Amino acid sequence: MASQGIIFDIKKYAIHDGPGIRTTIFFKGCPMDCWWCHNPESQEKELKPFINLLKTSSVNNCDNDGEPIGRIVSVKETMKEIKKDLVFYEESEGGVSFSGGEPLMQKDFLNELLICCKKNGLHTTLDTAGCVSKEIILQIAPNVDLFLYDLKLIDDKKHQKYTGISNKEILENLLLLSDLKYNIVIRIPVIPTINDSLVDIADFGKFIQKLNIIRIDLLPYHTIGEEKYKRLKKVNRMKEIIPPSKERIEEIKKQLESFDLNVSIEV
Ligand code: SF4
Repeated sequence: MASQGIIFDIKKYAIHDGPGIRTTIFFKGCPMDCWWCHNPESQEKELKPFINLLKTSSVNNCDNDGEPIGRIVSVKETMKEIKKDLVFYEESEGGVSFSGGEPLMQKDFLNELLICCKKNGLHTTLDTAGCVSKEIILQIAPNVDLFLYDLKLIDDKKHQKYTGISNKEILENLLLLSDLKYNIVIRIPVIPTINDSLVDIADFGKFIQKLNIIRIDLLPYHTIGEEKYKRLKKVNRMKEIIPPSKERIEEIKKQLESFDLNVSIEV
């Protein structure tokens, strides 16, 4: 069992990562390369020098031209941090969320944390794109109270173009979790010209209609992550893309609702 993992942030008093007030642990490492990723510093698992925009108190592997993003932490110290806010979780019916990056990339570390949270009676949420094997999903799922399951595109060719990988495993794992009646909220980032056409939205509607889910959350694309690309010296492939208007998001919500789905807009 891994008793250590690499994270890049811990967010306290989070209110958008599940019910109530939560602590969110952001894991480093992601097998995808989404064009619109707001956390490009999370994608590589290694600790890497970088001018730190997230103000993490990183201490490991600092090299020359910046602080590293990410730090190695143990299960014990992460749980100690989580337990500092027990009173807030109790009063708000909140808990602990695991996000990233892709937390499932560090499945043993994640599983240990999930088990510790459940032993302490804490509600757990996993924000994931589900891009791992079925075996890993089945190992982790019993200790997850709520999945925030990210869906980027249904069309596999487009998915490969804009995220770098096929969505076959992602869709299969989602179907599996739905069949097993786990609690699922689907999150769709709405990215103009990439996944917001009438056909794209109809594809989402038709696929999700078959599932047992609580609701869909629409996450309108925004440009907050732009500066990070400059600092990381990464190419920003989203330069020409403008965030969607409120009107367009409302239209997409209505189109999805026409499939008899419960849809919310994240602000
Ligand atoms: S799955 Fe999330 S963390 Fe990974 S590249 Fe895509 S947006 Fe970024």
